[in-house]
Amino acid sequence: MKKILLLATCVVLAACSQTHTPPAATTADTAAPADSPAPAAAAAPALKLYAMNCGELEFADVDMFADDGSMKGVARTLADPCYLIRHPGGDLLWDSGVPDAVADAPDGVRPEGFPVHVTRPRKLVDELAELGLSPPDIEYLSFSHMHFDHTGNANLFAASTWIVDADERAAMFSDKARGSDEFANYSALENARTVQIEGDADYDVFGDGSVTIHQTPGHTPGHTVLLVKLPQSGPVLLTGDMWHLAESREKRLVPSFNFNREQTLASMDKVEALAKATGARVVRQHVAEDFAAMPAFPKPLE
Ligand SMILES: [Zn+2]
Repeated sequence: MKKILLLATCVVLAACSQTHTPPAATTADTAAPADSPAPAAAAAPALKLYAMNCGELEFADVDMFADDGSMKGVARTLADPCYLIRHPGGDLLWDSGVPDAVADAPDGVRPEGFPVHVTRPRKLVDELAELGLSPPDIEYLSFSHMHFDHTGNANLFAASTWIVDADERAAMFSDKARGSDEFANYSALENARTVQIEGDADYDVFGDGSVTIHQTPGHTPGHTVLLVKLPQSGPVLLTGDMWHLAESREKRLVPSFNFNREQTLASMDKVEALAKATGARVVRQHVAEDFAAMPAFPKPLE
C-alpha cells in the first residue's frame, strides 16, 4: 500500500520545493534548440501516436485545481493517459501513469486523508505488449513532470534515454524528493542515459522537427509539453498538467499546489502561442473528454 501516499506526497513535494534549483550537472548532452517551426513536410511518414489508459483519478472534490475557489465541492474523474510516439528513429514514451501495481489492487487505491480514488484498468506493460513491445524496447523516455501519476512506472524504463528539463531533474533528486514515497517509482533514472534540457531551449527528439519538447514551468520547476507533428492528423500538443479540468484552460485556473503561479500563467501563454502558431490540436491530458476523443488503443493517431 506504499503507492497510496503518492498523491499526498506529490502535493507536499510541489508545495514545499519553492526554491528554484539551478540546472544540475552538465554530464548530460546539451539540448538542441528547435525554436524555428519545422515545415509540415518535416513530419515523419511513419510517425504514430498511441494514447494509453494509464490510470483514472476520481476526486470527490477538485477544489485544489483552482486557487480561486471556483471548483470547491465539485466531483470529477480525471483521465491519466500515457502516450507512445512511434518514429522511424525510435519509440518515445511520454508519461508513464500511476504504478502498474495499482492494477493489482481489486478496488484501486485510496490515499489516506486525500480525496482521490486511484485505479488502473490495465498495466502499461500489457498495453505495450499489445504492440509487441516491452519496456527495454523503448528508446526514449520523457515526462511532462515528476508527479506520481506521470512517473509511476519510470523505473521500468531505466534502460531508455531519459529526456528531462534540468530543473525538473534537480527537483526529482533533491534531498526532499529522496525522502518521499514516490521517489522509489523513478529512483533508477538517476543512472539512466540522460539528456538534460537547459535554459529555455526546446528539444528536438529525433532531429527532424517532428517531435519537440517545450519548457513550460510552473506546475513543477521543469514541467514540459510535447508537440507531435503527425503526417495525416497534423500537429498535436500534449500539455501535461497545464490544465487539469475542462474549465481550466478558458478560466486560466491555477492549482493551489503549483510550484510557481506566475510561471504557470506565463507557460499557459506560451502554450497558447505555440498552439496558435502551429495550429495544433491541444490535448489536456487529465481531461477525460480529451482522452476519449483520441483513437481507442491500440488504434493510433497517424
Ligand atoms: Zn498529473
